[in-house]
Amino acid sequence: MTEYIAPLADLNFVINELSKLDEIIKLPTFEHATDDLLEPILDEAARFSREVLGPTNVIGDQQGCSVENGVVKVPTEFSDAYRLFVESGWQGLDCDPEFGGMGLPALIGAATGEMWQSANLALGLCPMLTSGTVETIELHATDELKQIYLEKLISGEWAGTMDLTEPQAGSDLAAIRMLATPDGDQYKLTGNKIYITWGDHEMTENVIHLVLARLPDAPDGVRGISLFLVPKYHINEDGSLGEFNNVVCTGLEHKMGIHGNSTASLSLGEKGECVGTLLGKENKGMAGMFQMMNESRAFVGMQGFAVASASYMYALDYARTRIQGRHLLAGKDPEAKDVTIINHPDVKRQLLNMKVYTEGMRSLIYYYGKCSDIVHTTDDEKLKAETSALIEVLTPIVKGYVTDKSLEVCSHGVQVYGGYGYISEFPVEQLMRDTRIFMIYEGTNGIQAMDLIGRKLSMNKGESFKYFINQMKKTIEESKGVEGIESLVEKVDNAVSRLESLALEIGTRARSDKALNAYAFAHPFLEITGDVTFAWMHLWRASIAAPKLAKKVGSLEKEAVAKKAEKNKDAAFYAGQIASAKFFINTLLPSAYGKMDAIIEGDTSVDDILSVSFGSK
Ligand SMILES: Cc1cc2nc3c(=O)[nH]c(=O)nc-3n(C[C@H](O)[C@H](O)[C@H](O)COP(=O)(O)OP(=O)(O)OC[C@H]3O[C@@H](n4cnc5c(N)ncnc54)[C@H](O)[C@@H]3O)c2cc1C
Repeated sequence: MTEYIAPLADLNFVINELSKLDEIIKLPTFEHATDDLLEPILDEAARFSREVLGPTNVIGDQQGCSVENGVVKVPTEFSDAYRLFVESGWQGLDCDPEFGGMGLPALIGAATGEMWQSANLALGLCPMLTSGTVETIELHATDELKQIYLEKLISGEWAGTMDLTEPQAGSDLAAIRMLATPDGDQYKLTGNKIYITWGDHEMTENVIHLVLARLPDAPDGVRGISLFLVPKYHINEDGSLGEFNNVVCTGLEHKMGIHGNSTASLSLGEKGECVGTLLGKENKGMAGMFQMMNESRAFVGMQGFAVASASYMYALDYARTRIQGRHLLAGKDPEAKDVTIINHPDVKRQLLNMKVYTEGMRSLIYYYGKCSDIVHTTDDEKLKAETSALIEVLTPIVKGYVTDKSLEVCSHGVQVYGGYGYISEFPVEQLMRDTRIFMIYEGTNGIQAMDLIGRKLSMNKGESFKYFINQMKKTIEESKGVEGIESLVEKVDNAVSRLESLALEIGTRARSDKALNAYAFAHPFLEITGDVTFAWMHLWRASIAAPKLAKKVGSLEKEAVAKKAEKNKDAAFYAGQIASAKFFINTLLPSAYGKMDAIIEGDTSVDDILSVSFGSK
C-alpha cells in the first residue's frame, strides 16, 4: 500500500508567504493564536493522515457500505479511524471556543482539511459535512438550539448532513416536495430524499440532518422552501438521546467512487412521526441555504483540489523511482543505463501539468479561506462588503474550474503510472474515480458556469467582478519591479485586460436577445476565467519566490540556480515556483486566447442545432 505523502513545503509557503498567517492571527478573534502553532499542527495532521486515515482508504473503496436489517454498516476500520479523529479533537480546530472549539483561523482548518480529504476522501467528507452543519446552525439557529447541538457537533460526537435532493429535484430545487406540516412550535416531516452523503451510519451516536422542505400552503418554487433541523434521534432535555425520529435509510447507492461512505436514500416520517425544527423563517430556507452555499461549494473545490494533490504527490514519487527506457540524449552509448521516468520529457510535461494545477488550486483555495476569515472577523464594513463580493465571484471558479481540473490532474496521474495506473493496486486509479463526483454535486459545473455569467458578472452593477479584476491588477502592479519575471508580468497583464473586456461582452450578451448564445459559452467563459485566475496565482507565487531565490543563490542565472538547488531545499522549491509560473503563463494560458476569440466570434452552432439533429437510433 502506498503511504500518504503530505505536501508540507507548498502548504507552508501558501499559508505563510501567500496568505500571511501572521496578519490573520492579529485579527481580534484570533488573539490567542500564535505563529508557532502552525508547524506542530501540520506535522501532527500529516502523521494522523499517514498513519490513521490513509491506510483505511483502500479498505473503504473495496468493502463499501451496506444496509443490514435497516442498519447502515460502514467498514469497521472507518469507525475506528473516525473515533481517533474525534478523540484527537480535530473536528473543532477552527470552531467557536464557546462550544468547545479551538478558535483557530479557517486557514489552519483548511490545511488540516486538505490532508483529511487527500488521505481518505470518503471518510473526510463526514467531518466536512459536520462543519457545514455547524456553520448553518451558527448562522440561523436560536441560542437555545445552539446550546443543544453545537457542542456535540463541534466535538464530532454527532455528524451532520445536507438533505436537498429528491428524485424530481436535483439541479432545480424549486421542485422539492418534502412536506413540513406545522405542529405547535415544531413541524412534522414527510417525504423522500435521495443521494444523501453520510445520510445514515453508526460512526456517531446521532446524525443531524439539514432538510429542505415545503409547508402545505407555501408558495410555488424556491420562494416556498424552508430549512429544518432534523435529528436521527430526539434529544431529551438533559441532552441524552431519546426516541428514533423516523429518518429511515431505504437504500444505498452503488457508485463509481467514494465507496467508503454511505450515499443514502432517506424516507422521513413514512413509518412514524418525524419531527423537525425550523431554522430561520418559514419560506426563507433557500436564502439560508444560499448563505451556506458558498461555503459548501468551496468545500467541494477543496475536495477536488485535495484529491488532485494526492494524485500529484503519488505520481511524482512513482516517477522518481520507476526505471524505464534510456535517456533521450544517451544516443548509442552502450554504457548508458536506463533512467527513472521523471527524466523523459513527456513524463516531465505531465508532472509539470499536475504541479501547476495543484499549486494554482492550493493558492486559490487558501486565498478564498483568507477572504472568509476577513469577512467573519473584520470591523471594517467597506472591506467586509468588498471581500464578500470577491467571495461571490470566486465561488464558481473554486467549485467549477478546480473540480474540472482535478479530473485532468488525476488522469495525468494514471498516465504517469502507465499500466499500473489503471489497476487498483496503486492509489491513482481510485483517486480518478473518487474525484469525478465533484463536478456533479453541490450544483453541477454547468450550473456554476451559468451562475458566473448570470449572477456574478452583474452583481452590484458589475462592481463585484471589477473588484476581482482589480485584485489581479494589484498583484500585477506589485510584481512590476521584480527581477526575473518581467515577461510574465506583461503576459498576465494582457490576459487580465482581455478577460475584463470579454466579461463585459458576454455579460451584455447574457442580458440581451442573444442570451441563449451567451449561456452556450458559459462553461468556456468559466474555464477562461479560471485560466486567468491561475495565471494570477502563479505570478503572485513567482513574485515572492524570485527575490528569495536570488538572495539564496546570489543570482538568477540558470546554472548557478541549478547548482544551488541540488544542495539546498529552499532554493529548489523557489526555483520550482518560477518554473511553474513560466510553464503556466507561457504554455497553458495561451489556450485561453483561442477560447476568448471563439466567444467573441459567437458561433451559433449550439443555439441552432435541433434536438432531432443530434442523431437517431
Ligand atoms: C455520490 C453523490 C453524493 C451526493 N450527495 C448529496 C448530498 O449529500 N445532499 C444532497 O442534497 N444531494 C446530494 N447529491 C445530489 C447532487 O447534488 C445532484 O445529483 C446534483 O445536484 C444534480 O442533480 P441531478 O442528479 O438530479 O441532475 P439533473 O439536475 O437532472 O442534471 C442533469 C444534467 O442537466 C444539467 N442541467 C440541469 N438543469 C439545467 C439547467 N437549468 N441549465 C443547464 N443545465 C442543466 C446538469 O448540469 C446535468 O449535466 C449527491 C449525488 C451523488 C451522485
